[in-house]
Amino acid sequence: MVSSESKSSDHPANDTRIQLRDILRFFLPGTILLAAVLTGFYYLDYSIERELIAEREKHEVEIGSRDIDQTIQGIAKDVAILANSVSLQAFLEDGSASSLQKLGQEFLNFSRSKQSFDQVRYLDANGQERVRVNYNNGAPTLVRPDRLQNKAGRYYFSDTFELSRGTIFVSPLDLNIERGEIERPLKPMIRIGTPVFDAQGNKRGIVLVNYFGQELLDSLRSSARDTAGEIMMLNRDGYWLLAADPEDEWGFMFKNERRFSSTYPDAWESIKTMGQGQRFVDAGVFTWRTVYPLRAGIMSADGSVDVAGESHTSLFGREYFWKVVKLVPQSHLARELEKRFKYGFTLFLALSILLMVGSAVLSVALQRERTAVDSLRRNERRLHTITSELAEGLVVLGEKGTVTLMNPEAERLLRWSEAVTLGRRFADLVWGGERGKAQGDSPIGDVLENAQVQRVEEDTFNRSDGSQLPVAYTAAPMEYDGTVSGVIVTFEDITERKRLRDELKRMASHDPLTGLCNRRETERSLAQIMHHNKRYRRAVAICMIDIDHFKQVNDTHGHQTGDLVLKTLGELLQDQTRDVDCAGRFGGEEFILILPETTLQEASTLAERVRVAASNLKINAPGLETPLSFTISIGVSAQTESRLTAEGLINEADRALYQAKARGRNQVRVAQDISQNVSPGESPVDA
Ligand code: GH3
Ligand code: MG
Ligand code: MG
Repeated sequence: MVSSESKSSDHPANDTRIQLRDILRFFLPGTILLAAVLTGFYYLDYSIERELIAEREKHEVEIGSRDIDQTIQGIAKDVAILANSVSLQAFLEDGSASSLQKLGQEFLNFSRSKQSFDQVRYLDANGQERVRVNYNNGAPTLVRPDRLQNKAGRYYFSDTFELSRGTIFVSPLDLNIERGEIERPLKPMIRIGTPVFDAQGNKRGIVLVNYFGQELLDSLRSSARDTAGEIMMLNRDGYWLLAADPEDEWGFMFKNERRFSSTYPDAWESIKTMGQGQRFVDAGVFTWRTVYPLRAGIMSADGSVDVAGESHTSLFGREYFWKVVKLVPQSHLARELEKRFKYGFTLFLALSILLMVGSAVLSVALQRERTAVDSLRRNERRLHTITSELAEGLVVLGEKGTVTLMNPEAERLLRWSEAVTLGRRFADLVWGGERGKAQGDSPIGDVLENAQVQRVEEDTFNRSDGSQLPVAYTAAPMEYDGTVSGVIVTFEDITERKRLRDELKRMASHDPLTGLCNRRETERSLAQIMHHNKRYRRAVAICMIDIDHFKQVNDTHGHQTGDLVLKTLGELLQDQTRDVDCAGRFGGEEFILILPETTLQEASTLAERVRVAASNLKINAPGLETPLSFTISIGVSAQTESRLTAEGLINEADRALYQAKARGRNQVRVAQDISQNVSPGESPVDA
């Protein structure tokens, strides 16, 4: 048993391996699931972010292009107002120097208030500048008349002058050219003009403003400052007007091949043909929208880069456009991806560690449970072994007194099998009937109620076949947390012990030779009867019997024959008396008869009958040729008021016996006769 225990539990290496296996059992699937979930979230989150970026870009581009549109429309309106201004009409009417001065003042005021125009001019029908306000780095000034130039040869004059009333000319956005050179620092410019008519409807020249294109480009750039993408503006030929790298800008002016359409030909395919849209390419996400500054009534020319060159084409409506484009570069998306990955991976690591710890805790708990179950099983086995090997019957009862366990010895003793008795009340099984029902009064009931151990030295249990089993048993409470949860009953078969005890008791009170009560027992029983009688005033008589000349029997025939005589007389006395009477051996060859509720008269009659019967006995002892006879003498006494003690009664009978001997033996003498008369049928006492 000991060896099997150590086998199952005391191997730490084995335990550790089990735990590692447990940890992996929880951890591995956990991590895989975690990784799957996080990856799912990662892609979902990334695609949402991409979607958000896309939406935001669309929105940005829309706002940027609307701003541009509004700016151009605003300038067109300003130009129309200037062309119809009262001072211009007055000058056209009278041509006076004062009118010209007023007109100059108005243009100056206009330029000061707007701060957006490099030049504000009125040119007459010959292309001669008549009023010109130069921006002059924020301090607009009227140009002196002698400094005014003739611009009849420039495309913007002819293109504007040929327009009809109310029509606006918008030049392409390009760089300002001073004295045949591109002005440095670069000065992007848009010229916006309209023809001027006098009151008579004659065309009298043009009003023309040079708008700082940089203002437009700056506002577009700043609108996109806080967003992920790079803002760009392209002209219809795919050249950059605004680019992330300023070196890329104005390719058409510098006559280099830096253009969007060459750098991103794929994207340009879509951007050129579609008014607005979004496209994911290798470089990143392109979002674009087309701005059409020319509304109905506004026209433009494609301009000329040459100082005195003519414009090549007139462009109407949708042919004149810019493209506002935003690019969110792949690197930004990759950064987003990386950021999310880092975050997700950190989360994954943290959760994995948590999972690992959790798995370890779980595995320890599992291991503990396993150990607990193991030890429970071991205990059960041990209990089973102990109870099976127990030499006593053992029955475990539940809180209602029902059988929950019965060991093999109990099964053997009671002839019940455990399986049949489980769940049945033990008191019913072993006592049945009324006694079984009254469990509350039984020691087992006591144990359940008072939680006290009960030891019963002698009782009987019924066996399954109805036979009785003498038992000694102990009923002990099974306590758990202060309440009695059951009873443990152990019992043993006391049949043999009882037999031995009865025999011992018998040996102590009986004479082994004759089987009659011995002297002590007869004295005890006489005293008991007399004590009883004293209360109820009943009579008792005794006879003292002695064999005559017994010594001679011994001497003549041997001690064994003497014994046989004694035994035979004992049997005779037993035969001649009632059950209530008691025949005892009082001494060597002396006997006594105790006769309850018997008068002296009745006792002497019985004594006489015994005497005769004894004298008629013929004993065939081994080795004797003729059967042996013998006689007895008897002294009788009875209890009266005056003779209250057993000792006194015996002395009386002894005295009468002595007299019988003295009178020649083989006769009965009655105590009261001693000093009085002789009983009938008895030999008179010798004088
Ligand atoms: P009496 O008629 O006067 O009674 O004569 P008696 O010989 O019977 O009297 P006594 O008292 O002298 O002798 C009793 C004898 O009984 C003595 C003894 O050896 C014998 N005796 C006593 N107990 C036993 C016994 O258990 N077995 C045998 N065989 N003899 C016994
Ligand atoms: Mg004798
Ligand atoms: Mg004697």
